[in-house]
Amino acid sequence: MLIIPHSSKDEEVLNDMLGDSSCSFRRMRLYDRTIIISDGKMPHEALLHGEVVSGGLHSRKFKNNDSEVTVGDITIGSRNLVIAAGPCAVESKDQVATIAREVKKLGANMIRGGAYKPRTSPYSFQGLGPEGLKYLKSASDETGLPVVSEILDLSDYPNFIHTVDMLQIGSRNSQNFSLLKFVGSQHKPVLLKNGMGNSTSEWLGSAEYVLSGGNQNVVLCYRGIRSFENVTRFTMDSGTIASLKTLTHLPICADPSHPAGKREFVEPLALAAVASGATMLEVEVHSDPDRALSDSEQQITLEQFSALNRNARSLFHLLHNTTPSVF
Ligand code: PEP
Ligand code: MN
Repeated sequence: MLIIPHSSKDEEVLNDMLGDSSCSFRRMRLYDRTIIISDGKMPHEALLHGEVVSGGLHSRKFKNNDSEVTVGDITIGSRNLVIAAGPCAVESKDQVATIAREVKKLGANMIRGGAYKPRTSPYSFQGLGPEGLKYLKSASDETGLPVVSEILDLSDYPNFIHTVDMLQIGSRNSQNFSLLKFVGSQHKPVLLKNGMGNSTSEWLGSAEYVLSGGNQNVVLCYRGIRSFENVTRFTMDSGTIASLKTLTHLPICADPSHPAGKREFVEPLALAAVASGATMLEVEVHSDPDRALSDSEQQITLEQFSALNRNARSLFHLLHNTTPSVF
């Protein structure tokens, strides 16, 4: 249960009361507000001293205005579309440096790339691990693009601290509650993907784990779900993005690459996501996709990225009635 004390006097009373009672509780600050959290039942009198947050910290009932998340000098959730672009996997220092340079020229705001890859088969390329993170960091130092990269296990975190600006929680780890609690205890921004087999409310429950740990820097990244359809790799439902806008104040990103599965479907899905309310896109781009070591069929070429970037920004600015600042 979550309670926001009515006043600092009420906060003191609640502290004393809850300290004496049998329920375990803690106090935290989020979005400049003090919140008392208990995973047990609160004594009835406690309810007189604060307002119960019924929908959770992610919900519009708790915070109505759109949240923004800052990564380096980039603001996600604002009146500019943020595009993170880069390879599925970091394959070499040169590969990621070249792609970072090119996507920066074409208008990307962040570089993405997996150093730890969650592969279906243990015999597929597993990523370069800590070396891969170093290559991302040097590409970032050269281009000024902040880095987003997936963390698979909390024991790898020391390798991420000084190399990565935003931690990606992948679809397969979207309900890894110990990983979610861990990233919730840190301040680094989190890009939280939906589990391919999870409902929207289960996904918002995952976001709640990160927020309730005290980390308010959460961006939701929709990457589609598993359905019976198999022309595309996953099913990206525009309704999910549109409805998320009503349910949560958190910024919404979309990854059109994994649901597309094929490069020719990536741009249409990206545009549908922008039309539905996404304020960030994460796109897989490779300078030689046919030779990529993972997700070769869905990584778009630099030329395709150039068109996607231009069209997605035009649509965003048309819908949001703003002037494009990056083309
Ligand atoms: C990725 O973005 O590299 C990735 C593995 O995506 P997902 O977790 O959505 O499958
Ligand atoms: Mn991929």
